[in-house]
Amino acid sequence: MQNQLTVFNTLSRTKEKFEPIHPGMVGLYVCGPTVYSDVHLGNCRTFISFDLIYRYLLHLGFKVRYVRNITDAGHLEGDRDEGDDKFAKKAKLEQLEPMEIVHKYTLGFHDVMREFNTLSPSIEPTATGHICEQIEMIKEIISKKYAYEINGTVYFDVEKYNKEFPYGQLTNRKLEDLLEGTRELSGQDEKRGRLDFALWIAAKPETLMKWPSPWGWGFPGWHIECSAMSSKYLGETFDIHGGGMDLQATHHTNEIAQSQACNHKSPVKYWMHTNMLTVNGVRMSKSAGNGFLPGQLFTGNHPLLEKGYSPMAVRFFMMQTHYRSTLDFSNEALQASEKGYARLMASLKTVETLKTSATSTSNIQNWKKACYDAMNDDFNTPILVASLFEGARIINSVNDNKETITTDDLQVLKTLMQTFVVDVLGLKAETSNSSADKALQGAMEVILEIRKDIKAKKDYPASDKLRDDLNKHHIQIKDTKDGPVWSISE
Ligand code: AMP
Ligand code: ZN
Repeated sequence: MQNQLTVFNTLSRTKEKFEPIHPGMVGLYVCGPTVYSDVHLGNCRTFISFDLIYRYLLHLGFKVRYVRNITDAGHLEGDRDEGDDKFAKKAKLEQLEPMEIVHKYTLGFHDVMREFNTLSPSIEPTATGHICEQIEMIKEIISKKYAYEINGTVYFDVEKYNKEFPYGQLTNRKLEDLLEGTRELSGQDEKRGRLDFALWIAAKPETLMKWPSPWGWGFPGWHIECSAMSSKYLGETFDIHGGGMDLQATHHTNEIAQSQACNHKSPVKYWMHTNMLTVNGVRMSKSAGNGFLPGQLFTGNHPLLEKGYSPMAVRFFMMQTHYRSTLDFSNEALQASEKGYARLMASLKTVETLKTSATSTSNIQNWKKACYDAMNDDFNTPILVASLFEGARIINSVNDNKETITTDDLQVLKTLMQTFVVDVLGLKAETSNSSADKALQGAMEVILEIRKDIKAKKDYPASDKLRDDLNKHHIQIKDTKDGPVWSISE
């Protein structure tokens, strides 16, 4: 294993050495999508960031159990305890069963994740499939006197909990400050404390998704599902819990409170949060109206888009920013990413054709160290990408006979370029189906046949001229042991 991995822990607000609870094994839980509508590109950024983290942990040799849930019940409008269930609301709107909504958008989510070449998690549990576990956990919290029931709804007693455990520790805030930021309770409110949140919500006559419980028919609150499912599959204390930064203050703070109240243990060793994708500095979200969908991005069918961008260009665009920094969407940045992605993929082809020498002009061991140092420093992909561009530069220089490389160094360069670009960054070659690309492919096959004839006649000036003319159009031909190959250079 290379050096020491460090990760930024939201809980301590510092970078810490990554030492899993059970050596060699990692338990990773990431809050998944609420499947009542299509995921927007901002949601995708969070899932792609954790895909990168998962991939690098696998590369380091850890055995990872990666759990990413599907929220298919209990996530209310406005993330508070009032309002309509998001699924029921959408079901009424689309005139479908709530479970039809869930199924439709779960399939859509999986399609998008596949387009972005993300690895499937080890387990993808649903809230509706774990109602019993959630009820058991709520019963346990009530028995430990951190929750109370009123008219079939169960509330978590935040002020009582805070007497023993620091409630706002994840965001480093005191209860008094949190209380100040919340509105006074009105006569309509059932709950006792302003910060109290629902663990179980009593069904109204019109509620569509409901289950029997010790407190009558109802449905679980949003936060309890993640506590119940993470502890079921990863244990009462596990290594990494992730999600977008917007989940810190409420969802994750409440998850900690629930698990701690239940087990008297802090549930997670490292809390990791990804920063937001923004558009003109405003967080991408459905409510802001700036949340375009991956499909619109691929086709260019949105007023904010100058053209369509391929899934791998978009994935590379995301990798060029650290997961804890905001990433602002722009057409210029995406167009630069298209070129950068093409340059890296071209270098993976070129590296296969390089000739070796007795000495190396570049220090490949230093280059390798720079790649690992970047990733071990809290998954610093922008620095890794800079090193990979340096790798591409070396490859092109050797190819142009401006630099030399030994057989051993070439092996390291080839293996690590492939490892970091394909296995860790998760980039893959894109096969275009556009008619222009198909025509180019056909034309190049014709040209390579003509070149073969010219060479057979030993007309070397004509063959050189053909190669140079193609070069002017950024097309490179190389002779390999398997015959000539062509690629597009910059
Ligand atoms: P949701 O489906 O709303 O529960 O969100 C799924 C995930 O996407 C959560 O981890 C959110 O924190 C994350 N998320 C939502 N909006 C953005 C955004 N603009 N940028 C990055 N992540 C986001
Ligand atoms: Zn969650």
